[in-house]
Amino acid sequence: MEDCIFCKIIKKEIPSTIVYEDDSVIAFNDVNPAAPIHILVVPKKHIATLLDVTEEDKELIAHIYEVINQIARERGFAENGFRVITNCGRDSGQEVMHIHFHVLGGKKLGDKIVE
Ligand code: 5GP
Ligand code: ZN
Repeated sequence: MEDCIFCKIIKKEIPSTIVYEDDSVIAFNDVNPAAPIHILVVPKKHIATLLDVTEEDKELIAHIYEVINQIARERGFAENGFRVITNCGRDSGQEVMHIHFHVLGGKKLGDKIVE
């Protein structure tokens, strides 16, 4: 989709540090990391928010969790643990309207998910 920053990253029109890529998913380091490990896992299909996910996306969403699992094992933070967050809409502070999964780890994260 035009003017979508993550679609531009997918098309390599904007550079990013890619940590995983296949036909349907890309994962890259967040440009403004909130933890030592902060990877964004993003479907290549432009889906604006969690509320736009439909039945036809169920394999894609399951695949995203497989990819997160694989990245965590391969990059060595599976054992210590990590957190996965998807923001949706205004109250969450979602900035990029292309669904994405924040994978956070590399330190003991705060006990509270929200402040
Ligand atoms: P949101 O608030 O929408 O859940 O998260 C968007 C995330 O995308 C933020 O953590 C922000 O740092 C990250 N981000 C925004 N623009 C870029 C970019 O151009 N490159 C990368 N690698 N991350 C970005
Ligand atoms: Zn997009």
